[in-house]
Amino acid sequence: MTLIEEAKRGNKSELVKKCAKFEGVEVDKLLKLISKGHVVVPKNVLREVEPRAIGSLVSTKVNANIGTSEEYVNVEEEIEKAIVAQKYGADAVMDLSTGGNLREIRKRIMDVVKVPFGTVPIYEAARDCRRIVDMSEDDFLNVVERQAKEGVDFMTIHAGVNWMSVERLKNSKRLLGVVSRGGAITIGWMIQNEKENPYYENFDYILDVLKEYDVTISLGDAFRPGCIHDAGDRAKYTEFIILGELVEKCRENGVQCMVEGPGHVPLDGIFPAVKAMKSVTDNAPLYLLGPLVTDVAAGYDHIASAIGAAIAGMAGADFICYVTPSEHLGLPTVEDVKEGVIAAKIAAHAIDLIKDGQRERARAKDYEMSLARKNLDWEKQFSLSPDPEKAKKIWERRRAKGDYCSMCGDLCAIKLVEKYAQKE
Ligand code: SF4
Repeated sequence: MTLIEEAKRGNKSELVKKCAKFEGVEVDKLLKLISKGHVVVPKNVLREVEPRAIGSLVSTKVNANIGTSEEYVNVEEEIEKAIVAQKYGADAVMDLSTGGNLREIRKRIMDVVKVPFGTVPIYEAARDCRRIVDMSEDDFLNVVERQAKEGVDFMTIHAGVNWMSVERLKNSKRLLGVVSRGGAITIGWMIQNEKENPYYENFDYILDVLKEYDVTISLGDAFRPGCIHDAGDRAKYTEFIILGELVEKCRENGVQCMVEGPGHVPLDGIFPAVKAMKSVTDNAPLYLLGPLVTDVAAGYDHIASAIGAAIAGMAGADFICYVTPSEHLGLPTVEDVKEGVIAAKIAAHAIDLIKDGQRERARAKDYEMSLARKNLDWEKQFSLSPDPEKAKKIWERRRAKGDYCSMCGDLCAIKLVEKYAQKE
């Protein structure tokens, strides 16, 4: 039985209890949310993981995408990225490798990933064929089963692409067209073969496979806008509606599901987009890449993304896919992965400061930091920082003569207040 089926029966499994403890929420409340599909816990029955609940009431989660490309295959580096991502707090890791021996790379990365592990199966299906257009429908489907049997915890599947959404795309005035790799492969295959998307057409079969291993489906965002100009068009909203229908099917069939979202969205478009997604998917956990709030931050896209993620979280997004400083420019380095995770974790924490179920715990951490600042307790401040080593290094490189820091020196406001502001 899958987790959602167990939850519908009211079974308080060890997994749910563990997640409830981790989140500081009541088991019964969490169970109810899982039964409704408002929270998912991606975990393949074949894999041991440190579980993470994603959705309403629980803390905002962060995913780190890693993986090779055909231009650069260095498995050891990808393994290091996976380790570093977890060290800085990634709650999930996705292997998006497209270069080298994909099965071997996946296995090696999976071995070091202790949190939920995700993939985009269509990448492997496309790599296994000489030409994308030559893929058979079975190629699309078989890879899902193979990866489920290997223990993958969640998979992005672009099932929201069908002829209805493709027609909207054809009639749109998009500048960048389709920027989702999985979406581009699917749409290209459909147009060239004049056939319906195998993932959409065989969705019941996909659900049967995922159900057997309790793999969580992440309904892919094929039409995510790749630039501000393309945000919020009819193609994207058509896909939202189809995804909403697929969410219903997942829940009816006992498969946990979440929904992916855009992309590049201007600040004032984030709230309506997130609210619409949450509404048409009946509050399915929402997994967002960014959104990036501007197109002009190359080299600093992790910042553009964190700004968007914080606003999206305020509107109801649950799961943030990090963006690294290398976004739009190249395959990230280990250092980029670290920067990307930290930027996304800051956004996630900012969301938790105002999120139902998490506000109190998140604010306690901020209170602790503020107290450490008031007490000029530097070790405590370092330990509460996203990167304690970096924080300590900055403090030490221009070390002050007193117990304050070099920013204000002996005009340290905290010291002055302590000394002069309290008159007997
Ligand atoms: S010196 Fe300035 S920045 Fe540093 S602790 Fe004191 S008030 Fe804060």
